[in-house]
Amino acid sequence: MNGLDLLGPQQRGLFIGGTWRDAAGGKRLDVIDPADGSVLTDVADGSVADAVDALDAAVAAQASWATTPPRERGEILRTAFSLVTGRAEQFAHLMSLEMGKTVAEAEGEVAYGAEFFRWYSEEAVRIHGRWMQAPGGGSRLLTIKKPVGPCLFITPWNFPLAMGTRKIGPAIAAGCTMVVKPASQTPLTMLALAAVLEEAGLPAGVLNVVTTSHTGEFSQTLQADDRLRKVSFTGSTGVGRVLVRQSADQLQRLSMELGGNAPFLVFEDADVDAAVDGAMVAKMRNMGEACTAANRFLVHRSVAQEFADKLGKRMGGLTVGRGQDTGVDVGPLIDERAVETVSQLVTDAVHDGATVVCGGAVPDGPGYFYPPTVLLDVPVESEINVQEIFGPVAPITTFEGEADAIRLANDTEYGLASYVYTRDLARTIRLAEALEFGMVGVNTGLISNPAAPFGGVKSSGFGREGGFEGIEEYLETTYVALPGG
Ligand code: NAD
Repeated sequence: MNGLDLLGPQQRGLFIGGTWRDAAGGKRLDVIDPADGSVLTDVADGSVADAVDALDAAVAAQASWATTPPRERGEILRTAFSLVTGRAEQFAHLMSLEMGKTVAEAEGEVAYGAEFFRWYSEEAVRIHGRWMQAPGGGSRLLTIKKPVGPCLFITPWNFPLAMGTRKIGPAIAAGCTMVVKPASQTPLTMLALAAVLEEAGLPAGVLNVVTTSHTGEFSQTLQADDRLRKVSFTGSTGVGRVLVRQSADQLQRLSMELGGNAPFLVFEDADVDAAVDGAMVAKMRNMGEACTAANRFLVHRSVAQEFADKLGKRMGGLTVGRGQDTGVDVGPLIDERAVETVSQLVTDAVHDGATVVCGGAVPDGPGYFYPPTVLLDVPVESEINVQEIFGPVAPITTFEGEADAIRLANDTEYGLASYVYTRDLARTIRLAEALEFGMVGVNTGLISNPAAPFGGVKSSGFGREGGFEGIEEYLETTYVALPGG
């Protein structure tokens, strides 16, 4: 099994208005295996005309989808959940092939990603407004929730399934139609997901998928169209800013899930072994290619050496290789540019005075591999502490006291995930309140959960995905003023 069998030849095309078809003009886009740089297969390279067709289809389907009973919308999601989980192994192989992560890691993403369908199948039937008497008596206030309308979803390559289901699940539940553009590096998983939703009975036009390399023209054209009512984007802060600007003329509603620079704080009272366990997850999940990845390890001076030695031993013991091979813990990075970026950050940190505890050297090719690396005594101002690393490198910087730790942690433009290791409850509460991040993990390295509101502040964006909050991104409120009885 290699997962490619999830897709028939037609399903490597565009999915528009319930039909699989070629791109207008017939162009194709290669999908590369990051483990050796070879071409896995190709998919349609959609044009701007295809993008407009996809929006036409979403607009045409909107009215009837909005009035489809919530239970029916939920049942389609529940069926899709069962289909994805029933084919978890195939999905995991497919994702591993196009993205590089290990099959075990990809299986984790399938479970996590599918869960958004189950969660929102349950939320579809709990959309309701409120009724109240006006404070001064007399009139009554009624609110009604309605779907936002046709949406545009743009997703990144690092979690090809889950970053899609986090948007598609609540949008289907809320009664919205959509055009989805997956990352051009990892289009296959999204196409396989579209095939599953079609099989689950999703009506034609509710979900449309356009794979394309013409990203700028694609988003400009759709965002200039006043029929598009919402954009939800997961990706880099730079591209997020472009999409926010492009939304201004039509005032589209926005959800922006952008980059991160997560601090991982280890205090002097922490259980260091537990902190190392947590660090392995927070750093090594997805080879460090996660917006939630611990980016800066801020460790109290008194436990820094012990933490570095133990983390170095664990990270240095991981096996790097092709994600589909047994015994491999760490797959390749997404492309050559990613390896160059990570490698440069490490070189600069060492130049700035950091010590290499393990890793630090790019292996010979083929493939885009970088070894798990731990750096100690990284100066605060080193670029590796400023920028999102997006690779398996753990830079450790020491601090002296709690106030120092909070100041360092907040000293970033980003505000997505943060992690805290301490056994002091009062300190935990102080930190949860003082850290300027959308999410705080306490004595855990894993915070992602479909039932929780995932999202950031500052340059990490706005809006929440998952939980009760996630469906609100796809609902508008109408207030109805009524006379009193
Ligand atoms: P990216 O911003 O380069 O690309 C993301 C998506 O945007 C891709 O589909 C890409 O093709 C598309 N795109 C690029 N330019 C575009 C344009 N002008 N118009 C329309 N679409 C355009 O990001 P990436 O490298 O794919 O993903 C990594 C980034 O995503 C990291 O910064 C990471 O932190 C972030 N991320 C954030 C979250 C979150 O929930 N906050 C989750 C995962 C990844």
